[in-house]
Amino acid sequence: MPEALPKGERIFRGIPVSSGVCRGKILVLDRARPAIDKRPVSDSAVAEEINRLEKALVRTRHQILEVQHKVSHAMGAQEGSIFDAHLLVLEDRTLLDEVVRVVHEEKVNAEYAFHSVAERYAATLAAIEDDYLRERATDMRDVTARVLNNLLGLEDEVDLRHLKEPCIIIGHDLTPSNTAQLDKRNVLGFGTDVGSKTSHTAIMARSLRIPAIVGLKIASGQLETGQYALLDGFNGLIIVDPTDQTLYEYGQLVSKHLTLQEKLRDILAKPAITLDGHRVFLSANIEHVSDAEAVKSNGAEGVGLFRTEYLFLEREHPPSEEQQYLAYRAVAAALKPMPVVIRTLDLGGDKFLAHLHVPAEMNPFLGWRAIRFCLQERDVFREQLRAILRASAEGNVKMMYPMISGLDELNQANALVAEYKAELRQEAIPFDEGMEIGAMIETPSAVIVADSLAKRLKFFSIGTNDLIQYSLAVDRLNEKIAHLYEPTHPAIVRLIKATVDAAHGQKIWVSVCGEMAGDPVLAPLLVGLGVDELSAAPPVVAPVKFIIRRLKLPEAQELAQFALACESAAEILARCQELAHQVAPGLFEDSPESEK
Ligand code: PEP
Ligand code: MG
Repeated sequence: MPEALPKGERIFRGIPVSSGVCRGKILVLDRARPAIDKRPVSDSAVAEEINRLEKALVRTRHQILEVQHKVSHAMGAQEGSIFDAHLLVLEDRTLLDEVVRVVHEEKVNAEYAFHSVAERYAATLAAIEDDYLRERATDMRDVTARVLNNLLGLEDEVDLRHLKEPCIIIGHDLTPSNTAQLDKRNVLGFGTDVGSKTSHTAIMARSLRIPAIVGLKIASGQLETGQYALLDGFNGLIIVDPTDQTLYEYGQLVSKHLTLQEKLRDILAKPAITLDGHRVFLSANIEHVSDAEAVKSNGAEGVGLFRTEYLFLEREHPPSEEQQYLAYRAVAAALKPMPVVIRTLDLGGDKFLAHLHVPAEMNPFLGWRAIRFCLQERDVFREQLRAILRASAEGNVKMMYPMISGLDELNQANALVAEYKAELRQEAIPFDEGMEIGAMIETPSAVIVADSLAKRLKFFSIGTNDLIQYSLAVDRLNEKIAHLYEPTHPAIVRLIKATVDAAHGQKIWVSVCGEMAGDPVLAPLLVGLGVDELSAAPPVVAPVKFIIRRLKLPEAQELAQFALACESAAEILARCQELAHQVAPGLFEDSPESEK
């Protein structure tokens, strides 16, 4: 239930997924759709029903491709690739065969058959306690709505492309198609009843830089179009009928935020160096060639992780060696002489692909992913390794393998690199003979054998996102166990320390490129543990630099010593917060003056 406050305000709480504050009139989306009637059809009309269905599927495919094209163009290929999942629904033979069978056997109209079969699939997916599968249910319902509109000859229920006035959109579940079509000028922010931080809608909101909240539970049923509200995307609040006092407090918050942005702008060109002169290398994580610009504009010193899988996700066919070479070369050339660490393909887990026909698995994060996939799909790996080697002739390129779990995988991968280097020499194609090769440390087994790995590599990059999920056995996408996903768990602190010790023992450097590196509260702990480089999403590079520049190395080391001796994740986190607030209080002023 919303909280009623004495002042007459009503507050709805959800999960903040895109920061910022906005206020204005609410527009509640009504997802009501005309009931889908079951209509009997005669034997002779069955073929016509199938024909109508096929036409609707073709038309839907065109519409999705059109939206995908627009989104990729306006927001980037990663956002566009979200619609790959929609296209996959239209290619799902099990689903479509069943719809056709229902029309044939039950002699019913196509819309009824499609709706009943697709809804059964979606309901099954939605009932599974897994964020990722629930998102697939949303995809399926989004596509189903389009197919039904086409069968029924209806337009989309609300035209989000042409809103008459600025408003805050509230819906039960804003679909990725809805989100992609939002009229950016007139959408102040949005909120949905369902969703998680990893939902597609949340990803879109962040890219669009629109304040947004998901997981508002029942808000769409309780809010009404035309009501005046304030949406706080920092703290996940919608305040209906805010008082003058609340508006004033939020005005203060927005101006503090702007002041902070200015302070961060001042340090963009400065190095990440502690007050007592300890230098930390600060890089950015990128997904696309076009992100190279954001590396520079956010004050990073290079790329610590180039997630190459998005090059594969954004196309209908895998990119050729030449296409990959051009992409890697473009980033290397744009950032030269800054280093660019290109990670070899990390497919699988939550990154699925239509064109490589990776079968669905029971435990995709423990399955055929990353280096395991590449060592078996040799053609794919060969093209990528050759492309990376060739790009190394053009800039400061380094390469690393994802999800190494032991020495055999590393030896196999290194042997392939040696083989392709020999090929290139033979073909007189230039590459950097000394290109540094590293490995991501993402599995507990890799930490345990890190000394052996370190002898054969030039650097480590700790992927804490996966290291945490594999070490603590906590699915990184599952909201039900999100409380167990603790970056400051004593086991994680000790695993990072063991990795640093193994690397430094062999005189190689260590980076952290998981989300931990981009959290200003946790960065001092990593520095204190001896990590040499932090690599974070471009928008958080400046806040991390800000805190490093206000820190003294002994403070970070003392924090690390405390954490290594401590038995409680909560206590370690509290000490990290204490130090962060003490050295950089200005970074953490994103709550309004009074507690809501
Ligand atoms: C990680 O696991 O921390 C990492 C950086 O890789 P990804 O998030 O792409 O799995
Ligand atoms: Mg990873």
